[in-house]
Amino acid sequence: MEKTFRQNIISYFTGIAKRNKFLKYPSLAMMLVVLLIYYIGRHFVTNGKRYASMFFIAVFFVSSCSFSYAVFAERTGFTSVQETYSAVVEISDVSLAELEPVTASSEAIQGERVLMSEHEDEDVQTYTLDDLLENHEHDHGAAETETDRAKMGNIQSGERPVFDSSDWRLVLINKQHPIPEEYDFKLGTFASGMRCDERVIEDLLLMMQAAKKNGLNLVVRSPYRTSDHQEDNFNNRIKSYMKQGLSYMEAYKATSRVITIPGCSEHEVGLALDITSDTFIPLLQGFADTEEGEWLEEHSHEYGFILRYPSGKEYITGIEYEPWHFRYVGREAAAVMKDEGLCLEEFWDKYL
Ligand SMILES: [Zn+2]
Repeated sequence: MEKTFRQNIISYFTGIAKRNKFLKYPSLAMMLVVLLIYYIGRHFVTNGKRYASMFFIAVFFVSSCSFSYAVFAERTGFTSVQETYSAVVEISDVSLAELEPVTASSEAIQGERVLMSEHEDEDVQTYTLDDLLENHEHDHGAAETETDRAKMGNIQSGERPVFDSSDWRLVLINKQHPIPEEYDFKLGTFASGMRCDERVIEDLLLMMQAAKKNGLNLVVRSPYRTSDHQEDNFNNRIKSYMKQGLSYMEAYKATSRVITIPGCSEHEVGLALDITSDTFIPLLQGFADTEEGEWLEEHSHEYGFILRYPSGKEYITGIEYEPWHFRYVGREAAAVMKDEGLCLEEFWDKYL
């Protein structure tokens, strides 16, 4: 049957070629094309199962490989695939204790300091009050507006304060709430190169000055991080875990416990500041027991800052205790949170 079909084609085209010498070469060429298509088609039909299984293997490989995810994420914009990630990673469960830490120290697997130890060159950059005041003019107390004062009055008189969920200071950013697409902010840059949301600067300086009056030298480090930087940190960590033999899903889940998911970090909007002191620079939980750590815990709310990831609230924030990570929320919200012992998620549940 097959043979006859091929012979039919050949005799048909050679017939044309013999009858008309002008069509000799075109018809021979046409014959070769038809034969080629015929053979290719026949090859796929007879090897159908083989190609189908190769196709599914390729699909499986692509979907389980971080490399292709990274490319995919880059093309589509990371935030749009992020939800898929979190949905998928819930399936697997990896205990951090089972993992070898990537860095030399086994302690280094808590909180953001893992991230710091991997980026020493850029992140060791620290800023003291003097650095920040260099060429910077500021007006004491300017950040406290009329409405702030009115709300503070309410808080002191025991009335339930009213908060606005569209207030930029209260924006909720965590694994479940990525940075809203419409969120807009202006970065303020100090002469020293440090950057953060410009609306935070006044209160930050006031807080650092107040600490200094008490003989404490606070040091700010790694305030604003670009989303690219956050994404690089995140992807590098996934790769390290995969080198240890974890699957992509397992590595993703383990990474998301120690490094904030790109698009979900307060550092990316300039509202978070990692603060330690000149006598205790590293981002370690031991900072909580230093004089500066205790002072910040006690007084940061007076300047609108909260300790964002408190001890005992890990099950709500999803982040380890970080006595160095402060988030600006404005004075009245900070006062309420401090007073009632609420983390930002709980504050949202209650007031917004
Ligand atoms: Zn931080």
